[in-house]
Formats: sequence, C-alpha cells, structure tokens
Amino acid sequence: MSEQIPFQKEMRFAYGVASPVAPGVRRLVAPNPGPMTDHGTNTYIIGRGNVAVIDPGPESPDHLHALLDELAKTGERVTHILITHTHLDHCAGLPALKQATGALTAGFGSVGLRRTDTLGPGGRSFADGHFTPDIPLRDGEVLSGDDWEITALHTPGHAPDHLCFAYAPAQALFSGDHVMGWNTSVIAPPEGHMGAYLDSLHRLLDYDHTAYFPGHGGWINQPQRLVKAFIMHRRWRENEIIEALQTGAQSVPDITAQVYTGLPEHLERAAQLSVLAHLERLVETGRAETPGSISLEATFSLT
Ligand SMILES: [Zn+2]
Repeated sequence: MSEQIPFQKEMRFAYGVASPVAPGVRRLVAPNPGPMTDHGTNTYIIGRGNVAVIDPGPESPDHLHALLDELAKTGERVTHILITHTHLDHCAGLPALKQATGALTAGFGSVGLRRTDTLGPGGRSFADGHFTPDIPLRDGEVLSGDDWEITALHTPGHAPDHLCFAYAPAQALFSGDHVMGWNTSVIAPPEGHMGAYLDSLHRLLDYDHTAYFPGHGGWINQPQRLVKAFIMHRRWRENEIIEALQTGAQSVPDITAQVYTGLPEHLERAAQLSVLAHLERLVETGRAETPGSISLEATFSLT
C-alpha cells in the first residue's frame, strides 16, 4: 500500500542559495540532510523588504549566513520568525537568527508536555521544550507584516504544537512536517498522536490549497490527493495491526515484526513507535485495551 502513496520526491535546489518557489516565497535548504530530514530543513522567506522567515532550521552558521547574505543583498530585514513546530531541526537555529535580526518570534508555544524527556525515533531528545514565542499563535489567527500575511492552522499529530501556515497570495500552505511529499510523517508517542494527526489531515481537505511547501523536500502539487493517500495509508496500517492482534500478537515488538516484515534494524524503533501510535488510537477509540499505561513495554489485546 505504501507504494501507492503518490510521493513527490523531486526537488531542485542548491545549498546556500535562496530560490523563489512561488510569488513572494523564497526557499533556502539547510545543510542537514539525513534519513529523517531528506535534503535538509527548508527555511522559507515570505514577502519582500520587511520579511518573515518560516523555520530557521538547525543550528548552522553556514545556513544562518546564507540567509542573512540573501537579505543583505537587497537591504531586506527580518521582522518575524515563524515556527511550525519545535523539533530541533526546525528551530535550533532560532536563537542565533533572533539575535542577528531582533525579529519577533511567533508559534504555538507551550503544550504542557515535558518535552525534554521525550525520546525521538533516534533514541535521543529532539524537541525544544523551552520555546516561548513573542507572539503566541492559536488556530485561525492571522499574522501580517508589511508585505505578507499568513493564517495559522493548528495541526497537531506529528507534534502537539504543530502549526501550518496558509498563504493566500499563492493559494498555498506551509505544511511543516505535517504533510511532506518525500515521506510519511513520523508519529511517535508521546509527542506524536495518531488520532490528532488523522484529524489534522482530514481538516486540510476542507481547504482548496493548490500547493504545499513542506518542512523537508520539494513543493507538493495536488496536495489533497496526497493527504487522502496518507489517510488511506494509516487506515490500512491500522487494519494490519488489528489483524496482528487477532492472531495473538500482544507486545509492540511482536506486532511490529508481524506488520513490518524485513525491516532493517536501524528502523525498528521508529516502526515500533509508529505501531504504538496506532495502538494508542485503538485504545482511545475503544477497539483495544491494555492493562497498564500506553508504552513500548505494554501489552495490548482487542476488546
Ligand atoms: Zn518534526
């Protein structure tokens, strides 16, 4: 089924060069390629003159200087820094960019989760629990500068503080890590929440955006088609997990081994977290149960 997802993996870019991707939108790719980040984190510049930056990216002097050089060429100034979510590959570069520009920060802000204790699929902490935006953005709020305007959409699932930003001039959505064209999103509890993720996917179908600009990978055309495929993909995975439970698998490792056959060892933990996210949803919707709390060590059965 996963091969039926209409991925859009092509991307033309050069590191260190900000290039236009839509009217009023430039993209600069950070030099942090990897299995979780594709070519690297996309930093977007919106507007001209007094501009906003979406996602500063990782802590990288090269990336910061490329961004500042691009703006210095034309005497432009960053007035706002928008954060889609506080995973470090999106916002570790924030302090340096804020210091260099004095710009105001905007994002969802605290969600009350002890984020510093959270382990990512790589087994290490990958979220910044200390981000307090100058401008907290809630669902539906509009933020504008001299030459740009966005509407924040709260889209939890990949991360509880995840925002997408709708950008009307290009009928586009900055989709962060919620929807990407190169890969499925990581939904890893406790930060990731499958029920919220599916709700956030369904929500995007209410809009008629013609392009998504994701946090990693190239821009996405016909985005609703991709969103529907992601919903179908998760439904299919959920059914596989129900089948595994029906055949008597109870632990997360056993269910994962049954559902993901031939999985390379380095992807095992990520797959287990994804299975756990599905199990959490099955418990929340009353279709499965566990005697203890939801964790990788718990056992599950159908109700
Ligand atoms: Zn992320």
